[in-house]
Amino acid sequence: MLKFNTIRILFAAAFCIAMVVHFMDGPVHWWVWMMMLVCLTAILAWGATDISLSFFTPVLNKGVTRDKVVAISFDDGPAEAYTPEILDILQQHQVPAAFFCIGYRAAENPELLKRLHAEGHVIGNHSNSHHFWFDLFTPAKMLYDMRLADAAIENAIGLQPKLFRPPYGVTNPSLAKAIRQGGYTTVGWSIRSLDTVLKKEDELLRRVLYKVNPGDVFLFHDTCRITVQILPELIKTLRDKGFSIVRIDKMLNIPAYA
Ligand SMILES: [Zn+2]
Repeated sequence: MLKFNTIRILFAAAFCIAMVVHFMDGPVHWWVWMMMLVCLTAILAWGATDISLSFFTPVLNKGVTRDKVVAISFDDGPAEAYTPEILDILQQHQVPAAFFCIGYRAAENPELLKRLHAEGHVIGNHSNSHHFWFDLFTPAKMLYDMRLADAAIENAIGLQPKLFRPPYGVTNPSLAKAIRQGGYTTVGWSIRSLDTVLKKEDELLRRVLYKVNPGDVFLFHDTCRITVQILPELIKTLRDKGFSIVRIDKMLNIPAYA
């Protein structure tokens, strides 16, 4: 599997071999160095942005099961605009879900958080700031940010989240260290809805329902109107296909709170 440590060792070995050749057998062509740099940069960029690779840190992206179960998750809330409507739909259809909350929004909406918890949904940490440059923070600054989100969630529901979903789904060595030090379990997804981008309901439904497999984890955002609009149809279609929608921590068999 493509992992950061493997790549690091491979490229260090390639660099050493090139250096030996350079000094023993004459200069190595500049394009060899350039190709190594380009390949390394491309692999690191791929590893950082594709959460399903678990490249820098272990990530749970889907359940290992043959049972027809799936889990739904929502990021970036709680938002006064759409989270209550999503909760109404989930309650009406008796569907449990996971909400990866941004800490400062949780601090602004403790009542919504209490409602999420009271209605049987699980709450995870999605950083406090969801800062655009979060991935350039030092490990200590990342962990401080994540702990602020923990505190906002704990203030509302009395439980400290253990599940963490990286902002933007981006991982790197600094975040891997912060996750390790904080004792979090990193949770990704296997079906990305692109609900923040797509504008047409049928297009969004087609995209997420195209190929659903046992154990899949759906990523939505409770900050998008289109997500509210497609949710009833999504639930109905999944059930028509024979799938049960379960809570992510139950499906992955992991503790949700510390
Ligand atoms: Zn997010």
